[in-house]
Amino acid sequence: MPYEVQGVVALSKGAPVSLQTIIVPDPGPGEAVVDVQACGVCHTDLHYREGGINDEFPFLLGHEAAGVVAAIGEGVTNVAVGDYVILNWRAVCGQCRACTKGKPWYCFDTHNAAQRMTLKDGTELSPALGIGAFAEKTLVHSGQCTKVDPAAKPEAAGLLGCGVMAGVGAAINTGGVGRGDTVAVFGCGGVGDAAIAGAKLAGAAKVIAVDIDDRKLEWAKGLGATHTVNSKETDAVAAIKELTGGFGVDVAIDAVGHPAVYQQAFDARDLAGTVVLVGVPNPTMEITLPLIDVFGRGGALKSSWYGDCLPSRDFPMLVDLYLQGRFDLDAFVSETIGIGDVEAAFEKMHHGDVLRSVVVFDK
Ligand SMILES: [Zn+2]
Ligand SMILES: [Zn+2]
Repeated sequence: MPYEVQGVVALSKGAPVSLQTIIVPDPGPGEAVVDVQACGVCHTDLHYREGGINDEFPFLLGHEAAGVVAAIGEGVTNVAVGDYVILNWRAVCGQCRACTKGKPWYCFDTHNAAQRMTLKDGTELSPALGIGAFAEKTLVHSGQCTKVDPAAKPEAAGLLGCGVMAGVGAAINTGGVGRGDTVAVFGCGGVGDAAIAGAKLAGAAKVIAVDIDDRKLEWAKGLGATHTVNSKETDAVAAIKELTGGFGVDVAIDAVGHPAVYQQAFDARDLAGTVVLVGVPNPTMEITLPLIDVFGRGGALKSSWYGDCLPSRDFPMLVDLYLQGRFDLDAFVSETIGIGDVEAAFEKMHHGDVLRSVVVFDK
């Protein structure tokens, strides 16, 4: 029997989201239905609502979620009913040219559910990032379910499904931050602060947080920044050089995705250092760099998509570190809200008032 549940839907471009009754089909081969327990509100959900991703309205929003597997389809072996899981939007295929080269975090053919969830009148929904978890139940590919220790509470664990993983992974996977490194992180929202926490986890000696908002710099300190720079008042590049003996940092992470910020990251890194772009630019942005500096300064200019994560490897590891008190996921949860409060949460996020609002489903 298909399920009928409430979900947060963006019906048309720019219009406020609304609660709609949605139909979740029984899982087919390779699929799973998950009882969502908590789901974070991410900038990407707002981008969907504003038509910034594509025009395939209506969207079922929400994609940073944890919950319990309610039903599985034929052939599903990686999870069972009752398993506590974090949902991921990169279910790797194991067969594409990236996977067969042994680099599955670059998988070019990731899996989503084959069936569609619908509105009551049969209109097919486009689930955000193939998940759609601002709903009491959602249908995903079973590979999108990563089993973790159920001791981790869902409002914290769910955040690993997108923003926190993107930031931590930008530091430890893409940037390769290691013990004793110096790191600068530009932009101290959820992703940037997660990069700061990741750099701390990896043993960075100095973690310099850069933002134009003093409130965000305070959050960054709480998550492991050893120094802060308000780039509205100070030349960030000069300040970072001064903090690093005149040399610049080993790893500079742009968590904003803006040409002016990328330029700062490029200039603030030491010779042979690495620049990581994890903030998402808009399609009109361009950058001009002196090619002689791209060559002469050496090192690497890298992009980080979902923190180059492998959910099956990284989610359980980060949950374990959280449960051991070594990784403060709770610090990212600014507030828990009900399913009817997503539009208000967009407003708070837009004004930079919160790191993460998280929808909790028993609220
Ligand atoms: Zn693949
Ligand atoms: Zn997200």
